Amino acid sequence: LRNQLIENRDHAPITADGVSLEFLANVNNMFDAASAVGVGATAVGLFRTEFIFLTHSGVPTEEEQERAYRNVIEASPNANVTIRVLDLGGDKQVPYLGSRREANPFMGFRSIRLMTDYPELFRTQLRAILRASRYGHISVMFPMISRVEEVIELKLLFEELRKSLIEQGLQLPDRIPFGVMAEVPSAALCINEILDLVDFVSIGSNDLTQYLMAADRDNPKVAHLVDPCYPAVLRLLRGLIGACVERQKPVTLCGEMAGSPRCLLPLLGMGLRRFSMAPAFVGSMKEMAKTITLADARQAAEKVLSMRTLAEVRDYLNRRVRELC
Ligand code: PEP
Ligand code: MG
Repeated sequence: LRNQLIENRDHAPITADGVSLEFLANVNNMFDAASAVGVGATAVGLFRTEFIFLTHSGVPTEEEQERAYRNVIEASPNANVTIRVLDLGGDKQVPYLGSRREANPFMGFRSIRLMTDYPELFRTQLRAILRASRYGHISVMFPMISRVEEVIELKLLFEELRKSLIEQGLQLPDRIPFGVMAEVPSAALCINEILDLVDFVSIGSNDLTQYLMAADRDNPKVAHLVDPCYPAVLRLLRGLIGACVERQKPVTLCGEMAGSPRCLLPLLGMGLRRFSMAPAFVGSMKEMAKTITLADARQAAEKVLSMRTLAEVRDYLNRRVRELC
């Protein structure tokens, strides 16, 4: 068993017919990053920086943040770390941003939208990310994009901060890939305009599903509606992945469905090759990948995209997984 585990860790994910995939890790801190290396994830596809803010009594300083980001980068030797800019609000509240009660927190003042009231919070974080870029390979990623205008503004801001640190004498990498999350349906539908501006896209299927279905992902009364296998979600994903593939822009999916063996079939069939998941899922997803051919995946994608109900999709995918394993 030990040898099998080591072999699984050391082999890059590959399908039964030899198509190479990339399995990346979602991490909150350096301990997760170390376990990502242990299971053979090739990079960090999503570093959720909220953890440092949620576990701190006040706003972490630029130096404290730089250290935390550096720790994750150094725990992922030679691997790219995609650092996601702060995604607070919604389900993740911190006391120092004031206790704001909103009727619809997920539809409200969350994530990069907080920038209007807390510009210094974000500028400090971006400076800390830029400083940490000296210790390895990083990409920067902005969450909760709902309009092209936001991408234009964020790009300008990031470039302004990068230039000012270089003017202060910091040796920064020549290029830091700039990307966004596609997790609001409006961004998914305007993906071509967004692709003109970014180096990569990461699909946040958790939020994309809740926003498409108009169902709060944390409300148990409507949780049954928040399923990425629902045909409407799959059809939106197909368009999104297809647009990125056509434009040859790297596209990763970093929501929970990236670690679901059932979802691997249709996502592969739609052209996705990069999956970012909790480190614990990497091993079993590699085993699953080995059993699938691209022809199986394309057939599964075609089938589920034409289905009418969630039950039909789930029954079909569960049956296919049983047959393959
Ligand atoms: C997502 O929305 O799918 C995602 C990965 O981001 P989070 O779960 O942190 O909102
Ligand atoms: Mg999200």
